Amino acid sequence: MIITTKKDIKDILEALKGKDNIYLFGCDSCAEQCDTGGRKELEEMTRVLTENGKKVVGASLPEETCYRQLVIKDYRNKPELRHADAVVVLACGAGVRTVADVAEETQPVYPALDSIFLATVERVGRFFEGCSLCGECVLIDTGGICPHTECPKGLLNGPCGGMADGMCEVDTENECAWVRIYGRLKKQKRLHHMKKITAPKDHSVGTRPRKVLLRNPAGPARGKT
Ligand code: SF4
Ligand code: SF4
Repeated sequence: MIITTKKDIKDILEALKGKDNIYLFGCDSCAEQCDTGGRKELEEMTRVLTENGKKVVGASLPEETCYRQLVIKDYRNKPELRHADAVVVLACGAGVRTVADVAEETQPVYPALDSIFLATVERVGRFFEGCSLCGECVLIDTGGICPHTECPKGLLNGPCGGMADGMCEVDTENECAWVRIYGRLKKQKRLHHMKKITAPKDHSVGTRPRKVLLRNPAGPARGKT
């Protein structure tokens, strides 16, 4: 799940200067769970924009705003969306990017949120970061705990030595990732993984933009329908 936080409304209003008719997109998936882009937040954004002299001409709440076909459907069926002066998207960057890709290039699309991290959902409203999508997973050697993400220094070959009572020296509220890795490998009788030297990260495997084309490889990947 992608975690998002709300941008300062002043920045959004500044971006919308000179734009009167605004269409809103939320996202009924991650942003809804983050309380940043669900029905309630669309209503709140409508109220704030209206109070600031804007006309909100409509709003969509796709199941997943990063799903291009759902956004295309709205653009096909809603003239008020196609003709809006600007679109404000209450979704993660992938959602904003998807709407911007489907919109005519003359129509500005603005993010209302900041995308923070990829999260594991502990329970409703409690999220933590366990993977930074590095493209070269080392969890096979680390008992399912990611040193790249959960150690603030991103150390791949054991602890820095600065931990105190098992807690990280950088973020003292968190247990040292390497203490956890050691403990888990020990319980799994796999401590020999601690001796393995992991080569420095090959950042070329994470060269952006990345893509995966599992289906319809011959079809158009982008562009208008
Ligand atoms: S090593 Fe860490 S950041 Fe990289 S893919 Fe695995 S879990 Fe994600
Ligand atoms: S104390 Fe542990 S988690 Fe914190 S920076 Fe050092 S090795 Fe990484």
